[in-house]
This record gives sequence, structure tokens and C-alpha cells, in this order.
Amino acid sequence: MLFCKESLFTPGPTPVPDRVKQAMNQPMVAHRSQVFSKSLQQVATRLMPVFGSKEPVIVIAGSGTSALESAVCNTVHDGDHVVVVVTGVFGERFASICETYGSIVHRLDIEWGKACRPEQLETFLKELDHPVQAVFATYCETSTSVLNPVKELGAVVKRLTDALYIVDGVSCIGGVPVDMEDYKIDILVSGSQKALMLPPGLAFVAVNKHAKDAIKSGPAKRFYLDLNRYIQSYEEGTTTPFTPPVSLVYGANEVCQMIEEEGFDQVIKRHEVLKNMARAGIKALELPLLVEKDEDASPTVTAVKPAEGKADSYKKYMQEHFAMTLASGQKRLKGEIFRVGHMGYSTPFDVLNFLSALEIAAHDLEGKDTFGKAVKKAEEVWKAYV
Ligand SMILES: *Cc1c(COP(=O)(O)O)cnc(C)c1O
Repeated sequence: MLFCKESLFTPGPTPVPDRVKQAMNQPMVAHRSQVFSKSLQQVATRLMPVFGSKEPVIVIAGSGTSALESAVCNTVHDGDHVVVVVTGVFGERFASICETYGSIVHRLDIEWGKACRPEQLETFLKELDHPVQAVFATYCETSTSVLNPVKELGAVVKRLTDALYIVDGVSCIGGVPVDMEDYKIDILVSGSQKALMLPPGLAFVAVNKHAKDAIKSGPAKRFYLDLNRYIQSYEEGTTTPFTPPVSLVYGANEVCQMIEEEGFDQVIKRHEVLKNMARAGIKALELPLLVEKDEDASPTVTAVKPAEGKADSYKKYMQEHFAMTLASGQKRLKGEIFRVGHMGYSTPFDVLNFLSALEIAAHDLEGKDTFGKAVKKAEEVWKAYV
């Protein structure tokens, strides 16, 4: 009996809309051609409001981590002191990249599942005995489903230091508000396979004028990820320094078209609805959420922490019975949580599908009467918006 279709609920990669797939299926063109230049220019400029950037967004062939690495290797010299706010796996990744490039990392470690409060950063920066070159933070910490208050953190950074403020927005840009000037962000990076509903393979870097200058006179050791090459190729020839993934750029243009048709403010609102529906439904099943406070929770991903280490049983159950792919916990949260993505090409009905399946899973795994409970609460949340 066919009663379910395969569905992808991982917080990256995420489902790709059919019209984006079709856009990627156009005939190949030379990347030194007017046709490609036009497409690249459209993507670089149409993404500006999505990144809250005043400069065209830089497009690199690579996964999200290449964008993180480019933000480090273009700004940090051997021996530079930097601060990394670590709220989970991806904060740790920024710290590792910085260490790899020879910087001295001051880690502000926050309990996993909590957001970094501006006062915590303030105290930390005041206690440092050395000027720092850059402060790194993660907007949505995908491993815990926390959304950090990057605007408030930015205000602290610029009040207390002359450092560059660099933000990893890989798992939320395209689903959350951001304004680089207002948030005081100098470099904002993202990737294609999360809220931007593309296949993996494109990295995005938005830099402001201040960062552009810093990058120009930046460290010598960089080649493929040298952002000056990307900026120069774009400004002088509306192209990329190396062969770009042409099809993904076509796809990105279609994503911009979709965001513009829906209206970016509506896209942001939809992600709020998805978050609130998911949280209300999970709570109705008496399953604990890893992120307790609603305002610390990301609109793009939700982490659930079932009792007695049942997290992996839920993930397995949902896969085997309903062909729904969830994500498990990473590193120290392995076996402790499962995560559901609701970003990009995700609708309230997708969340209802997930919750109805979760009701059945909870019924079997907890032995409770859960039928209809999560869906009811989530529908109530949705109804309040429409
Ligand atoms: C997915 C992700 C990345 C990058 O991962 P890649 O596998 O290199 O694409 C970086 N930061 C965050 C917060 C992420 O969610």
C-alpha cells in the first residue's frame, strides 16, 4: 500500500521547487558570455535585499563551509586575536577554521540550546586583554536550532571594539530578516541548500565597504577563496574568476523570482508561522524542545529532545514508517535530539504532515493517546495568521 511519499525534513539539504529544477535544466552556456553575465548580475543584485546588503552578493562554487573559510582567510592574519561565539557545532567550525589559519581564538562558549545574550558578549569582550581583529557569530545555530540575536550582538561588538563582525547565516538567510548596516555586520555568509531552496554547491558572501577594504589589504595566503578575485571579476567583467556552477546560478535566479513573487516580508512571516506551528504541535505531544525560550528558537529548524535517549528511535521510526527524513543530533547532542527543518520550500501543510506522522510515532514510542493533538494546536496557530 502506497501511503506516503518520500519527504526531506533535514535542515539542509532542503526540498528544491520544480520550477527551480526546470530553470537549472537550461542548455549549458559559456561562463564568459553575455547570457551568463546577465544571470550572474541578476542573482548578485536580487539577493541584496535577502542578505540586507548594499553590495552585490559574491557567488562562489563550494559548500557553505567554503563561504565560512573565505570570511576567515580574507580577513585574519597569522597571530591575530579573534573572538568566536560558540553556541554549537557551527560556532566550533568557525573556531577551527580560525585556528587553522593561525589566529589566536578567544572562545565564548554558550550552553548548547541557548542563545548568546548581548550581556554575555559584553562581559567577555571587556575582559579581553588584547585587541581583536574579528568577532564571529552564528545567526541560526543549526545543530541546536537556536537563533542568536545577531543584531544586538553586533551593537556590542561595534561599541567595544574595532573588530570586523562576521556572521554565519547559512541555515537561515532567505527565511529571516537581516540588514547588514543596521545589524553592524561586515561579512555575512550563506549557502545554497538551506533556506535558499537550491541544491548544495553555491556559497554566498556579502561584504560591506569596510570589509572590502580589509579584504584588499588582507593576508597573502589565499587563492581560490581570495574574495578580491571575485569582486574584481564581477566589477570588471560581471563574471566569476573560476568556472561557476552555471546551472545553479540559473536556479538561484529562479529562487529570487519566487521570493519576489511571494514578497520577502511574507517569506519571513511564513517561516515564523512554520516555527510557531512546529513548536506548538511538539509541545502538545509533551515532547520537550531543546530550545526552551520561543525567542531563542530559529524559524528554520526545530530540535526535539525526547526523554530516555529516544531521539534516534523517532528518527528511525519516521524514516521507516513514513519515509520522512529528519536529522539527528551532532557531536555532544548525538542520540539526545532529533531535528526537523522547515525552511525554504516549506509550507504550513508540510509541518502538518510532519506533525501528524509524529503523533503516530509518539503514540507507538511513548504509549500515549496522541492522535490529532499536535495537528490541532498547529492548525490553531496557523489560523491566527490567516
Ligand atoms: C550547513 C551549515 C554550514 C555549512 O555546511 P556545508 O556542509 O559546508 O554546506 C555552515 N554553517 C551553518 C550554520 C550551517 O547550517
